[in-house]
Amino acid sequence: MLKTIKNIVIISMALFCFIGYSQTETKAKYVFLFIGDGMGASQIYTAEMYLNAKPGEIKVEPLLMNSFPVRTNMTNYSASSYVTTSCAAATAMSTGLKTNNGIIGKSPNQKIDYENISQKAKKAGFKVGILSSVMIDHATPASFYAHQNSRDMYYEISMELPNYNIDYFGGGGFHYPEGENGGQPNSYENAIKKGYTIANSHEEINKLKHGDEKIIAINPDMYPSGEFYWAIDKNEEALTLADFTKKGIEVMDNDKGFFMMVEGGKIDWACHGNDGVTMIHEVLALNEAVRVAYEFYKERPDETLIIVTADHETGSLYPGINYAMNPELLKYQKISVQEFKRKMTDLKNTNPEVSFNTLSDLIQEDFGLGNSEIGLTLDKDELSMLKLAYNAQFKKNNAVDADADYLDKNDVNSIAETAAYILNKKAGISWGSGDHSGTPVPVKVIGKGQEEFSEYFDNTDLPKKIQKLMGI
Ligand SMILES: [Zn+2]
Repeated sequence: MLKTIKNIVIISMALFCFIGYSQTETKAKYVFLFIGDGMGASQIYTAEMYLNAKPGEIKVEPLLMNSFPVRTNMTNYSASSYVTTSCAAATAMSTGLKTNNGIIGKSPNQKIDYENISQKAKKAGFKVGILSSVMIDHATPASFYAHQNSRDMYYEISMELPNYNIDYFGGGGFHYPEGENGGQPNSYENAIKKGYTIANSHEEINKLKHGDEKIIAINPDMYPSGEFYWAIDKNEEALTLADFTKKGIEVMDNDKGFFMMVEGGKIDWACHGNDGVTMIHEVLALNEAVRVAYEFYKERPDETLIIVTADHETGSLYPGINYAMNPELLKYQKISVQEFKRKMTDLKNTNPEVSFNTLSDLIQEDFGLGNSEIGLTLDKDELSMLKLAYNAQFKKNNAVDADADYLDKNDVNSIAETAAYILNKKAGISWGSGDHSGTPVPVKVIGKGQEEFSEYFDNTDLPKKIQKLMGI
């Protein structure tokens, strides 16, 4: 009898140890959540067509994210609308709870601060990194740390940022470090007071090393408003989202694991402006950041989980007009609409009397339009659209601001936007709107616990699934 009891005790202990061991050893220790802001299925697919685009060949080159074994869709309605905004969607993805469009990390009545996955992961001993190619106090990244009544409260968000001991912020800077009208206490200084190190030069970012904590690493080469330059404009000096992801791994890698959210924030901006080629380059830039995580995953496949998804789709993009797509034509666009606008503004300042013919040459250089050898002959309607835009901008002095907010639609008839519209149309891209749509978003998953994501689910379930796999 005694022997039997002893045996049972031994077996139970062994079983307990085994279960205990398997629970600690098989969780998702290293979790990457990539969010392509505005990246619906059409945005991904258009990029895949573009990658392989050759005249006369109909074939696509799948992005790395589409090689992931689990691929599904996720609903993303907010508490106030079937069509979400970034902050409501990101709040759902970070807290598991719905809120109204416009709110960051709080309940619809703005009375309750929701606890987010970053806070939970920190409590459980994980390191946490939050990265974005747009301002780090912008809607999506903010929803992974802040609690504010409105996404427009950039300053309040930036002041709240250092309160949660998040280990690594990477990418864009603060939008209004001294408040929208200036004169308020500087939010970088506030972060430094709370123990953060700001690294905003190539040298300082290079020096960041394994084990560094409370880091805010900001791209030294970006727009003054705090977001990256467009990937299409290939600023050689500028660091990419992939660079910041790599640095994040280097800084945060540790035995207890980490949670890293990486946002490709400008896919949405390009889609709001219906700038197809610029959007494609932003999707490709996000895909390169995913590749960095994938390389990490290959070394630790049993402990790493990578999820690539979106908050919502933007622009109601449809590849195909009259049953046709000519993605190879998109390769002739060499510049973002924003930077072509700047070119036009500069031109107007230096040479206000510029002729339409001179302008046509510039349009041909950067968009290929008007070059019949490559199949981009302009028809009568297209020519008159461009002339109309030229007259408005150069003769009637309609103001075109290259740095206007991406949601500002006042410039729709600028030469740059008209050129992009014509090229998109010739290539077969049509846009249904300049806003978000309510279409469910794609989810691509690889790694530890990937099967957990195999069904159609809601964005509030996303953090619940991740937390379950992380054991928190
Ligand atoms: Zn948007």
